[in-house]
Amino acid sequence: MRYLILGAGAAGLSAAGAIRQTDPRGDITMLSGDRHIYSRCLLPDVLAGRREAAAARFVPEDFLIRNGVRWVGGVKAVKLLSEERGVAADNGDKYYYDKLLIAAGASSYLPPVENIDQGRQIYGLRNLEDVWDITRAAGNCRQAVIMGGGLVGVDAAVSLSEKGLAVVIVEVASHILPLQLDQRAAAAYEALFRDRGIEIIAGAMMSRILLDDRQNVTGVQLENGRVIPCGLVVAATGVRPNIDFLAGTPVEVGRGVKVNEYQETSCPDIYAAGDVCESLEAFTGKVAPTPIWPLAVLQGQVAGINMAGGRRKMANNFAFKNSMEFYGLNTVSFGLPEAPDTSYTTYILESPGSYKKFILKDGCLRGAILQGDITRAGVTGALIRQNIPVGVAPGKLPDLNYAYFFNQQENGAFVYEGA
Ligand SMILES: Cc1cc2nc3c(=O)[nH]c(=O)nc-3n(C[C@H](O)[C@H](O)[C@H](O)COP(=O)(O)OP(=O)(O)OC[C@H]3O[C@@H](n4cnc5c(N)ncnc54)[C@H](O)[C@@H]3O)c2cc1C
Repeated sequence: MRYLILGAGAAGLSAAGAIRQTDPRGDITMLSGDRHIYSRCLLPDVLAGRREAAAARFVPEDFLIRNGVRWVGGVKAVKLLSEERGVAADNGDKYYYDKLLIAAGASSYLPPVENIDQGRQIYGLRNLEDVWDITRAAGNCRQAVIMGGGLVGVDAAVSLSEKGLAVVIVEVASHILPLQLDQRAAAAYEALFRDRGIEIIAGAMMSRILLDDRQNVTGVQLENGRVIPCGLVVAATGVRPNIDFLAGTPVEVGRGVKVNEYQETSCPDIYAAGDVCESLEAFTGKVAPTPIWPLAVLQGQVAGINMAGGRRKMANNFAFKNSMEFYGLNTVSFGLPEAPDTSYTTYILESPGSYKKFILKDGCLRGAILQGDITRAGVTGALIRQNIPVGVAPGKLPDLNYAYFFNQQENGAFVYEGA
């Protein structure tokens, strides 16, 4: 059996391991745009200089050898040739398969801001090459603007601040980390960032990047006319799945490659996993991209097992868990950061150094933010992920632990002894 894997990220590598465990003899080839194996989650560490690039590797040095994977690094598929059961690559070669995994991840999305395609010092933060480009540009300027205050933008801001640059984050929402946190939890980070000299401009849109006559970035302009001088812009405004090479082929795509719960695409013998695909997300019950590391790993494993003849379903395709730590402040959030309407009830418990918020609907937790004290985050996450009735008085929510799982009613509700 010839297995071809496109992509050497979390999804591609976990698929390779799963294939090898299920099929000890098959031929595995891995084509990867990346020349080296590294975790994208660790790129901010490399950018800040906290970690060498080599230490961003997330599988053992001998992983490929041990699993008998033929490595074709620095080579990308440019066209799927589904009738020939092969792919054409940018090195001019063709690679053939009996089973194909598309695990090509995603690329940084650059929003339609004037001059964004012309300026020389405008980068996403997705690849090791981006880290080198940003590092080079950072060496030639004193101020950077980060477009987007989501997790990647905030990571980039902290890294560049540690390198000694003055950093400004421009975020369109009313606070940073809007997908993960509410205003109160975000404000705790905003205060820490401002203390370290990182400026945050929330509720603002960037309209133009200012360039000199050699296309060097000299600043950005906001919609309200304000100009922020800078020599470097990092665009952290989301990602787009790498699906161009599938255009005109029978593999169905929406925002990403469409897959079922077995990670099968619309084409026989072609699977997809990780950031490149869209799938049924467990929390929202909607089909959407699920671009987080743990799901790329799980989806890769499921795809790998099924490619090698197993039959495994993707369970818990839950994309609404985030954990973060900046300047010593930990936060874990699950599900909704804000109650969407009055049919939800919100409970907030605050004490020095700790903020806890629980959002309930019909007796089930639909969102939680634990900041500072993150104990019991595991239980809270499990309740939200599985939409289990909590069965306790709201004031007891922070005390729930796994012991209560043993006291369950027939409807699945947990019975809390002290309730
Ligand atoms: C800066 C940063 C911080 C992050 N932090 C977190 C975090 O804290 N927690 C979290 O859960 N997630 C985080 N993520 C997201 C996480 O990294 C991704 O969800 C994960 O890497 C997805 O893995 P993947 O294998 O699907 O794709 P990728 O890691 O993108 O790997 C895709 C692979 O496909 C290759 N490729 C692309 N196109 C082709 C082609 N045409 N042919 C062949 N190969 C191709 C690429 O070179 C690469 O090897 C972060 C991402 C970034 C960028």
